[in-house]
Amino acid sequence: MTEVVIENITKQFRGVSILENVNFKVRSGEVAVILGPSGAGKTTLLRIIAGTESPDQGRIYFDGEDVTSKPPKERDIGMVFQTFALYPHMTVYDNIASPLRAKKTSEAEIRKRVHEIAELLGISHILNKRPQECSGGEAQRVVIARALVKNPKICLFDEPLTNLDYKVREVLRMEIKRLFKELKITAIYSTPNPEEAAALGETLIHLRNGRVIQIGMVRECFKHPKDVEAAACYSPYGVNILEATCLKQERGKVLKVNDKLSIDVGNHSEIVEGEEYLIGIYPHDIFPAEAGLKNALRIPVTVDFLENTGSELIINMRVGDKLLRMLSTEVERIREFERLQYVYVPLENIIIFRKSDESRVCNLGVNV
Ligand code: ADP
Ligand code: MG
Repeated sequence: MTEVVIENITKQFRGVSILENVNFKVRSGEVAVILGPSGAGKTTLLRIIAGTESPDQGRIYFDGEDVTSKPPKERDIGMVFQTFALYPHMTVYDNIASPLRAKKTSEAEIRKRVHEIAELLGISHILNKRPQECSGGEAQRVVIARALVKNPKICLFDEPLTNLDYKVREVLRMEIKRLFKELKITAIYSTPNPEEAAALGETLIHLRNGRVIQIGMVRECFKHPKDVEAAACYSPYGVNILEATCLKQERGKVLKVNDKLSIDVGNHSEIVEGEEYLIGIYPHDIFPAEAGLKNALRIPVTVDFLENTGSELIINMRVGDKLLRMLSTEVERIREFERLQYVYVPLENIIIFRKSDESRVCNLGVNV
């Protein structure tokens, strides 16, 4: 196990800045997820950590040792990329064995290790196949097995599930999670998908346009997004945004959205009278009943229409003239949801952003 420290990494391609002053630390044995849209710089950053790309500035340390100028093969890293790069003329067995053969490991030891890792990934039965005879999910398992077979200090996963279809992605995601638990390796995993980040990661490193905009525990980042754009990135169904103005009332102050909705913010000194705000609510933080919730805001709604994905319902509603989307997995309650008149949101899940720069001010119900 190895601690990874990334210090002030900067990279340009042809005068265009791709990574700017990237800093973070991944603790030994931890799984860190780099979340960011396509073009954010994830692959470039992983390649710099692997040593196949060099930074313009900055240093990389593994367990305190500066490895910035070390070639890739001396870094002891396993890598899994988005495309399944396997040797087409070799069997699955030989593909997995190849990094050990390169290290001149004995055939007896190779056999033992290949069978162990194949067992762990559920591919023992396809060891004699060739890559083109494997399904996408099997091929990616082989790539993962090959990356892990030499017990690397660090494993880098660059969007390993992106090119797989939905069902395979779900299954492999669970298996990768189990692998991380069992092997206790230091892993850095990139994805544009917030659900994957939440399922796999402990620490989240949110990359946007080559800059780290937020680092923290995954759930904490999701709950306390840096700004409106981050909130939208953290939820597969986006984030509801309601514009509001802070107004004085007899008993204190409120955030007034419209005639249907005013939210008491009397005990939030950071929300200032006369200023404009954006109220952010994730679709999955809206509930059809108050039972079981602590300190929830009640919102009067009229339901427009429902979308049924089979496993999830998206309820499209209005609060006066504003749109609000709620997400529920209780698909069987569709008839009941069509007639909803009120929905409920725990105050701590109501995120307040400044309208001017869209940065987060606070969550209601908590003082952070
Ligand atoms: P991500 O993996 O998050 O999609 P990348 O690291 O692949 O992002 O790319 C970040 C940016 O750097 C993109 O705008 C991409 O076009 C650019 N880029 C990546 N590699 C090169 C290269 N070798 N030469 C020029 N531009 C590159
Ligand atoms: Mg990439």
